[in-house]
Amino acid sequence: MDIRDVRAALDLGTAGTAMFRSVEDLYPLCRSITGEGLRQTLRYVGEHAPLALREVASGTEVLDWTVPKEWTIRDAYVKNSRGERVVDFGRSNLHVVNYSAPVRARMSLGELRPHLHTLPDAPDWVPYRTSYYRETWGFCLSHRQMTSLPEDEYEVCIDSTLADGALSYGECYLPGATSDEVLISCHVCHPSLANDNLSGIVLAMTLARHLRACSLRYSYRFLFIPGTIGSIAWLALNEATVERIKHGLVLACVGDRGGFTYKKSRRGDAEVDRVVARVLQERGVPHRIEEFSPYGYDERQFCSPGFNLPVGCFMRTPHGQFPEYHTSADNPGLVQPASLAGSLEVCLAVLDVLEGNRRYMSENPKGEPQLGKRGLYRSMGGFAQGGVDELALLWVLNLSDGEHSLLDIAARSGRAFDSVRGAAEALAAHGLLKEIPT
Ligand code: ZN
Repeated sequence: MDIRDVRAALDLGTAGTAMFRSVEDLYPLCRSITGEGLRQTLRYVGEHAPLALREVASGTEVLDWTVPKEWTIRDAYVKNSRGERVVDFGRSNLHVVNYSAPVRARMSLGELRPHLHTLPDAPDWVPYRTSYYRETWGFCLSHRQMTSLPEDEYEVCIDSTLADGALSYGECYLPGATSDEVLISCHVCHPSLANDNLSGIVLAMTLARHLRACSLRYSYRFLFIPGTIGSIAWLALNEATVERIKHGLVLACVGDRGGFTYKKSRRGDAEVDRVVARVLQERGVPHRIEEFSPYGYDERQFCSPGFNLPVGCFMRTPHGQFPEYHTSADNPGLVQPASLAGSLEVCLAVLDVLEGNRRYMSENPKGEPQLGKRGLYRSMGGFAQGGVDELALLWVLNLSDGEHSLLDIAARSGRAFDSVRGAAEALAAHGLLKEIPT
């Protein structure tokens, strides 16, 4: 079985339902860049795909960074003088600033106020805030609730620990025929946020689950890593072998209703950049191709100049461009099963093109070979035996000079990549093409 067979057997309805269920399963966990919620998430992924859990000790120097202390959160609340929890971590983990230092104190509203974060422009939503690299504490709540808090003496408690521990990440390696690798990476560090975080995790997990049953040309490495520090740690630990990465995708925000967005690698003309653009164009679906920028997700690290890996970022609506981004409104209601399944379908098609993109040399370059006597061409136009696209046959024969890949031929001819690949395989089976080893 190969990725083509997976695509042929894919039922989008079933896939979308299963992916959405995983988003709902993972939603309540209080993830961060370290800690137990992150480990629980990785264990969940490990139930669906073969995953190695890695731990990097706090204090480890990784490139220009240091692995931070591990954050443990047990409870957090603001109580009024009647003992009622007016802000409660138990109701939503977004209510506590992620990575908050511990605090137990009584204070007036005026003293508490600088530690409260709200969104005045979206007064019913709770913001998502972090304090990873600056030790502080705080609470997030709706602006509407904050403005209605009366003067009172409040009891503030964040029952957390910042202590030496480890940074956890998950790595799923699927060996293929060559040690050349395709890297698929997603961030796993956001707490209850669905599109930004969970959609990417669930897509990567589902891809890994499908690919593990396939015989593969490339080896595949799936990374489930906390944003920024996770990719920096991984790059630091794997610097000697990153050259194996020939193609890569960072997956994020792939579950909303928006069209597809692909941000190219820093190289701009990497094979993966051309393949994603081609796959989206062939589908005729709404999409946008963006140039690389040193902002966004972990492609920033993979594409830093000292690595410059061919890694792009596949999204629907990019971070910061949907109003629910980094708020309590980025909940499972924002994510659509059909959108998740559509993202899966495109990613499988991209990987299938990467697997199938080869170079051939025509064995009969002087004049066209006679296709009719080989059953590859009918006297009337149309499709020959086995549904081979005759125009694609002619294009493949003409451009198979060792220089042009099947992707080049698809782009130049305007024929679908799958048709070009099918034509090349038919011609090779008749001894008319010879594959050029890469
Ligand atoms: Zn984010």
